[in-house]
Amino acid sequence: MTKVFLDAGHGGKDPGALGNGLREKDINLSVALKIGNILKNHGVNVGYSRTTDVFVELQDRATMANNFGADVFVSIHCNAFHDSSAQGVETYSYPGSMSGRNLAKAIQDSIIASGVYTKDRGIKTANYAVLRLTNMPAALVELAFITNPQDADILRNRQDDLALAVAKGILNNLGIPYNGGGTALYKVQVGAFSIRENAENLVNQLKADGYNAIIVVSGGLYKVQVGAFRIRENAEALVNELKSKGYDAIIVIG
Ligand SMILES: [Zn+2]
Repeated sequence: MTKVFLDAGHGGKDPGALGNGLREKDINLSVALKIGNILKNHGVNVGYSRTTDVFVELQDRATMANNFGADVFVSIHCNAFHDSSAQGVETYSYPGSMSGRNLAKAIQDSIIASGVYTKDRGIKTANYAVLRLTNMPAALVELAFITNPQDADILRNRQDDLALAVAKGILNNLGIPYNGGGTALYKVQVGAFSIRENAENLVNQLKADGYNAIIVVSGGLYKVQVGAFRIRENAEALVNELKSKGYDAIIVIG
């Protein structure tokens, strides 16, 4: 299974850059989690340096990614400058790393192609700790300038678009086709019967165990469904729970 490690920059006592009523650490975390959900829906195993507002040292972020065995590492940041007219998106890789450069270019190209931005600052290199200490292709994206009013609006209001663009860039770099997004539902099915009464018996048993089971008729069968999720991981968690209670649960994508 392909592994991607997402690093939401800053956190906890370190707010990162501040501007236009925004804190960088909040934007980074929100966008990183959104990227992760999109990747998970493509069968990617996602690791995070943080999923809450906590401080993590730079070298620990790299160590976590190395221990996770990530195929690629992507760090999410927002830019800042004392001149508030500075704006746009840029993506960094470690100097001399061709695989890092390819990853950075895939992300940068995807963000520009998404139309969220018109200001393309291009791909760059920098000796950042998280790029230097990670032992897989690594990129650091500066989504926008938190200090610029127009950019801050994008950071505040278009996080879903930014996350989708970054995720598409990562998927492209990994050779995983984008699945069209958001429309797939992961349904947890516990049984399929040709006789309705059998399905009803199972529904009653599930309800007695506290599950909100329903019967869905399709393909001439009475299918017992317990839940439907946008995020595959959530469906898998329910399947495992049901299996531990002796139910023969599977995921059906529809
Ligand atoms: Zn930062």
